[in-house]
Amino acid sequence: MIIGSICHSSVFFSVNLANIKKISCKIVSFFSLDIIYYFYGLYLFHFKVFFSKTVTPMKNLNFQKLLENNHLWIQEKLNEDSDYFEKLSKGQSPRYLMIGCSDSRVPITSLIKAEAGEVFIHRNIANQVNLNDINLLSVLEYSVEHLHIKHIVVIGHYNCGGIAAAVDGVNQGLIENWVSPVNELYYKHKEELSLIEDNHTMCDRLSEINVIEQAINIIKTPILKRAFKSGQFPKIHAWIFDIYTGKIVQQDLKENSLIENGLLPKNYFEVVNSEN
Ligand SMILES: [Zn+2]
Repeated sequence: MIIGSICHSSVFFSVNLANIKKISCKIVSFFSLDIIYYFYGLYLFHFKVFFSKTVTPMKNLNFQKLLENNHLWIQEKLNEDSDYFEKLSKGQSPRYLMIGCSDSRVPITSLIKAEAGEVFIHRNIANQVNLNDINLLSVLEYSVEHLHIKHIVVIGHYNCGGIAAAVDGVNQGLIENWVSPVNELYYKHKEELSLIEDNHTMCDRLSEINVIEQAINIIKTPILKRAFKSGQFPKIHAWIFDIYTGKIVQQDLKENSLIENGLLPKNYFEVVNSEN
Protein backbone atom coordinates (compact mmCIF):
# COMPACT_ATOMS: atom_id res chain seq x y z
CA MET A 1 0.00 0.00 0.00
CA ILE A 2 2.86 2.32 1.00
CA ILE A 3 4.72 1.31 -2.14
CA GLY A 4 1.49 1.88 -4.04
CA SER A 5 1.07 5.36 -2.53
CA ILE A 6 4.69 6.20 -3.24
CA CYS A 7 4.24 5.04 -6.84
CA HIS A 8 0.99 6.92 -7.07
CA SER A 9 2.60 10.02 -5.53
CA SER A 10 5.59 9.80 -7.84
CA VAL A 11 3.29 9.37 -10.85
CA PHE A 12 1.19 12.25 -9.56
CA PHE A 13 4.33 14.25 -8.88
CA SER A 14 5.84 13.45 -12.27
CA VAL A 15 2.53 14.33 -14.00
CA ASN A 16 2.41 17.56 -12.07
CA LEU A 17 6.05 18.20 -12.87
CA ALA A 18 5.28 17.68 -16.55
CA ASN A 19 2.30 20.01 -16.29
CA ILE A 20 4.37 22.57 -14.40
CA LYS A 21 7.00 22.34 -17.14
CA LYS A 22 4.35 22.80 -19.82
CA ILE A 23 2.74 25.71 -17.97
CA SER A 24 6.07 27.34 -17.24
CA CYS A 25 7.08 26.88 -20.89
CA LYS A 26 3.82 28.54 -21.92
CA ILE A 27 4.38 31.37 -19.43
CA VAL A 28 7.97 31.82 -20.59
CA SER A 29 6.99 31.69 -24.26
CA PHE A 30 4.07 34.06 -23.57
CA PHE A 31 6.37 36.54 -21.88
CA SER A 32 9.06 35.98 -24.52
CA LEU A 33 6.54 36.79 -27.20
CA ASP A 34 5.35 39.70 -25.12
CA ILE A 35 8.92 40.97 -24.83
CA ILE A 36 9.47 40.49 -28.57
CA TYR A 37 6.21 42.34 -29.33
CA TYR A 38 7.19 45.05 -26.87
CA PHE A 39 10.58 45.65 -28.48
CA TYR A 40 9.07 45.27 -31.95
CA GLY A 41 6.53 47.94 -30.99
CA LEU A 42 9.32 50.17 -29.72
CA TYR A 43 11.24 49.55 -32.96
CA LEU A 44 8.22 50.48 -35.05
CA PHE A 45 7.61 53.53 -32.90
CA HIS A 46 11.20 54.72 -33.25
CA PHE A 47 11.20 53.81 -36.94
CA LYS A 48 8.08 55.92 -37.39
CA VAL A 49 9.52 58.81 -35.40
CA PHE A 50 13.01 58.88 -36.89
CA PHE A 51 12.41 57.59 -40.40
CA SER A 52 8.93 58.92 -41.04
CA LYS A 53 10.20 60.64 -44.18
CA THR A 54 10.97 57.30 -45.86
CA VAL A 55 8.60 56.47 -48.73
CA THR A 56 6.15 53.75 -47.62
CA PRO A 57 6.70 50.34 -49.27
CA MET A 58 4.06 49.28 -51.81
CA LYS A 59 1.82 47.41 -49.39
CA ASN A 60 -1.87 48.20 -49.26
CA LEU A 61 -1.03 51.50 -50.89
CA ASN A 62 -4.21 53.48 -51.22
CA PHE A 63 -4.62 56.31 -53.70
CA GLN A 64 -4.19 59.10 -51.14
CA LYS A 65 -0.93 57.48 -50.01
CA LEU A 66 0.49 57.93 -53.51
CA LEU A 67 0.23 61.70 -53.18
CA GLU A 68 1.57 61.65 -49.62
CA ASN A 69 4.54 59.57 -50.79
CA ASN A 70 5.14 62.05 -53.57
CA HIS A 71 5.39 64.80 -50.97
CA LEU A 72 7.84 62.70 -48.91
CA TRP A 73 9.91 61.93 -52.03
CA ILE A 74 10.16 65.66 -52.84
CA GLN A 75 11.35 66.32 -49.30
CA GLU A 76 13.94 63.51 -49.51
CA LYS A 77 15.33 64.87 -52.75
CA LEU A 78 15.45 68.45 -51.50
CA ASN A 79 17.16 67.32 -48.30
CA GLU A 80 19.86 65.67 -50.43
CA ASP A 81 20.19 68.60 -52.82
CA SER A 82 18.19 71.81 -52.60
CA ASP A 83 18.68 72.37 -56.37
CA TYR A 84 17.62 68.83 -57.28
CA PHE A 85 14.53 69.74 -59.31
CA GLU A 86 16.13 72.77 -60.89
CA LYS A 87 18.92 70.49 -62.18
CA LEU A 88 16.43 67.78 -63.21
CA SER A 89 14.42 70.24 -65.26
CA LYS A 90 17.45 71.30 -67.34
CA GLY A 91 17.34 68.17 -69.54
CA GLN A 92 18.38 64.55 -69.78
CA SER A 93 21.45 62.67 -70.99
CA PRO A 94 20.86 59.05 -69.93
CA ARG A 95 23.47 56.44 -70.85
CA TYR A 96 20.97 53.58 -70.87
CA LEU A 97 17.85 52.58 -72.76
CA MET A 98 15.98 49.76 -71.07
CA ILE A 99 13.15 47.80 -72.63
CA GLY A 100 11.33 45.80 -70.01
CA CYS A 101 8.12 43.99 -69.16
CA SER A 102 5.17 46.01 -67.80
CA ASP A 103 4.97 43.68 -64.77
CA SER A 104 4.71 45.75 -61.57
CA ARG A 105 7.19 43.46 -59.83
CA VAL A 106 10.01 44.58 -62.11
CA PRO A 107 10.90 48.07 -60.88
CA ILE A 108 13.60 48.74 -63.48
CA THR A 109 15.20 51.81 -61.93
CA SER A 110 14.87 50.57 -58.34
CA LEU A 111 16.55 47.23 -58.93
CA ILE A 112 19.69 48.92 -60.31
CA LYS A 113 19.42 51.88 -57.91
CA ALA A 114 19.25 54.35 -60.77
CA GLU A 115 18.10 57.93 -60.25
CA ALA A 116 15.78 60.09 -62.32
CA GLY A 117 17.49 61.05 -65.58
CA GLU A 118 19.72 57.98 -65.77
CA VAL A 119 17.57 55.49 -67.69
CA PHE A 120 15.34 55.98 -70.74
CA ILE A 121 12.62 53.34 -70.54
CA HIS A 122 10.12 51.55 -72.73
CA ARG A 123 7.87 48.84 -71.32
CA ASN A 124 5.33 46.41 -72.70
CA ILE A 125 4.00 42.96 -71.85
CA ALA A 126 6.78 40.34 -72.12
CA ASN A 127 9.34 42.99 -73.24
CA GLN A 128 8.68 42.58 -76.94
CA VAL A 129 10.71 44.24 -79.67
CA ASN A 130 8.25 44.21 -82.50
CA LEU A 131 9.65 45.73 -85.70
CA ASN A 132 6.22 47.18 -86.52
CA ASP A 133 5.74 48.79 -83.08
CA ILE A 134 5.88 52.53 -83.81
CA ASN A 135 5.92 53.29 -80.08
CA LEU A 136 9.04 51.22 -79.42
CA LEU A 137 10.73 52.35 -82.64
CA SER A 138 10.19 56.02 -81.73
CA VAL A 139 11.73 55.45 -78.32
CA LEU A 140 14.64 53.56 -79.89
CA GLU A 141 15.25 56.18 -82.58
CA TYR A 142 15.13 59.09 -80.16
CA SER A 143 17.41 57.42 -77.62
CA VAL A 144 20.01 56.35 -80.23
CA GLU A 145 20.00 59.33 -82.58
CA HIS A 146 19.28 62.20 -80.18
CA LEU A 147 20.25 61.05 -76.70
CA HIS A 148 23.21 58.99 -77.98
CA ILE A 149 22.70 56.37 -75.31
CA LYS A 150 25.61 53.98 -74.74
CA HIS A 151 23.79 50.77 -73.79
CA ILE A 152 20.51 49.17 -74.82
CA VAL A 153 19.26 46.57 -72.37
CA VAL A 154 16.29 44.31 -72.99
CA ILE A 155 15.25 43.08 -69.58
CA GLY A 156 12.92 40.12 -69.17
CA HIS A 157 12.11 38.31 -65.96
CA TYR A 158 11.28 34.91 -64.51
CA ASN A 159 7.67 34.08 -63.66
CA CYS A 160 6.46 36.36 -66.45
CA GLY A 161 2.69 36.27 -66.99
CA GLY A 162 3.10 37.28 -70.63
CA ILE A 163 5.37 34.32 -71.31
CA ALA A 164 2.97 31.94 -69.53
CA ALA A 165 0.06 33.38 -71.54
CA ALA A 166 1.98 32.73 -74.77
CA VAL A 167 2.58 29.10 -73.76
CA ASP A 168 -0.88 28.35 -72.34
CA GLY A 169 -2.79 30.23 -75.02
CA VAL A 170 -5.73 30.64 -72.63
CA ASN A 171 -5.93 34.41 -72.73
CA GLN A 172 -8.77 35.89 -74.68
CA GLY A 173 -8.22 39.27 -76.18
CA LEU A 174 -5.43 41.44 -77.45
CA ILE A 175 -2.75 40.02 -75.15
CA GLU A 176 -2.91 36.78 -77.13
CA ASN A 177 -2.07 38.69 -80.31
CA TRP A 178 0.62 40.69 -78.55
CA VAL A 179 2.52 37.65 -77.22
CA SER A 180 2.09 35.55 -80.39
CA PRO A 181 5.82 36.05 -81.28
CA VAL A 182 6.65 34.35 -77.96
CA ASN A 183 4.30 31.51 -78.89
CA GLU A 184 6.26 31.14 -82.15
CA LEU A 185 9.49 31.08 -80.13
CA TYR A 186 8.02 28.35 -77.94
CA TYR A 187 7.37 26.12 -80.97
CA LYS A 188 10.76 27.03 -82.49
CA HIS A 189 12.53 25.82 -79.33
CA LYS A 190 10.06 23.08 -78.40
CA GLU A 191 12.67 20.32 -78.70
CA GLU A 192 14.72 21.88 -75.89
CA LEU A 193 11.74 23.14 -73.87
CA SER A 194 9.84 19.84 -73.94
CA LEU A 195 12.71 18.24 -71.98
CA ILE A 196 11.90 20.49 -69.00
CA GLU A 197 9.17 18.74 -67.01
CA ASP A 198 8.25 21.54 -64.62
CA ASN A 199 6.06 24.10 -66.41
CA HIS A 200 7.37 27.10 -64.38
CA THR A 201 11.00 26.18 -65.10
CA MET A 202 10.15 25.71 -68.76
CA CYS A 203 8.51 29.18 -68.89
CA ASP A 204 11.55 30.71 -67.16
CA ARG A 205 13.81 29.16 -69.80
CA LEU A 206 11.50 30.59 -72.48
CA SER A 207 11.89 34.02 -70.80
CA GLU A 208 15.66 33.69 -71.35
CA ILE A 209 15.20 32.65 -74.99
CA ASN A 210 12.72 35.50 -75.47
CA VAL A 211 14.97 38.22 -74.05
CA ILE A 212 17.86 37.13 -76.29
CA GLU A 213 15.56 37.10 -79.33
CA GLN A 214 14.26 40.59 -78.54
CA ALA A 215 17.79 41.95 -78.10
CA ILE A 216 18.65 40.52 -81.55
CA ASN A 217 15.50 42.20 -82.90
CA ILE A 218 16.94 45.53 -81.69
CA ILE A 219 20.03 44.83 -83.81
CA LYS A 220 17.80 44.12 -86.84
CA THR A 221 16.05 47.52 -86.77
CA PRO A 222 16.90 50.11 -89.46
CA ILE A 223 17.74 52.46 -86.56
CA LEU A 224 20.62 50.28 -85.37
CA LYS A 225 21.73 49.58 -88.94
CA ARG A 226 22.00 53.36 -89.49
CA ALA A 227 23.90 53.68 -86.22
CA PHE A 228 26.34 50.91 -87.24
CA LYS A 229 27.04 52.75 -90.51
CA SER A 230 27.69 56.01 -88.64
CA GLY A 231 30.42 54.28 -86.60
CA GLN A 232 28.91 55.25 -83.23
CA PHE A 233 26.56 52.78 -81.71
CA PRO A 234 25.43 51.44 -78.36
CA LYS A 235 26.20 48.07 -76.82
CA ILE A 236 23.28 45.62 -76.78
CA HIS A 237 22.49 43.50 -73.71
CA ALA A 238 19.94 40.86 -72.72
CA TRP A 239 19.14 40.59 -69.03
CA ILE A 240 16.85 38.44 -66.94
CA PHE A 241 15.58 39.74 -63.61
CA ASP A 242 15.48 36.67 -61.38
CA ILE A 243 12.31 37.51 -59.47
CA TYR A 244 12.99 34.71 -56.94
CA THR A 245 16.28 36.26 -55.76
CA GLY A 246 16.29 39.83 -57.10
CA LYS A 247 19.46 39.16 -59.08
CA ILE A 248 20.07 40.31 -62.67
CA VAL A 249 21.33 37.42 -64.81
CA GLN A 250 23.14 38.48 -67.99
CA GLN A 251 22.30 36.34 -71.00
CA ASP A 252 24.87 35.40 -73.64
CA LEU A 253 24.07 37.14 -76.93
CA LYS A 254 26.87 35.26 -78.71
CA GLU A 255 28.02 38.46 -80.40
CA ASN A 256 30.84 36.71 -82.27
CA SER A 257 28.36 34.61 -84.24
CA LEU A 258 26.22 37.74 -84.83
CA ILE A 259 29.34 39.41 -86.26
CA GLU A 260 30.03 36.32 -88.40
CA ASN A 261 26.56 36.31 -89.94
CA GLY A 262 26.66 40.07 -90.55
CA LEU A 263 24.07 41.22 -88.01
CA LEU A 264 26.69 43.10 -86.01
CA PRO A 265 29.50 45.09 -87.67
CA LYS A 266 33.03 43.67 -87.60
CA ASN A 267 34.24 46.56 -85.42
CA TYR A 268 31.41 46.04 -82.86
CA PHE A 269 33.63 45.20 -79.88
CA GLU A 270 36.22 47.81 -80.82
CA VAL A 271 33.57 50.59 -80.87
CA VAL A 272 31.52 49.56 -77.85
CA ASN A 273 34.57 48.97 -75.68
CA SER A 274 36.08 52.37 -76.54
CA GLU A 275 32.80 54.31 -76.41
CA ASN A 276 31.23 52.82 -73.33
ZN1 LIG B 1 6.46 39.90 -67.52
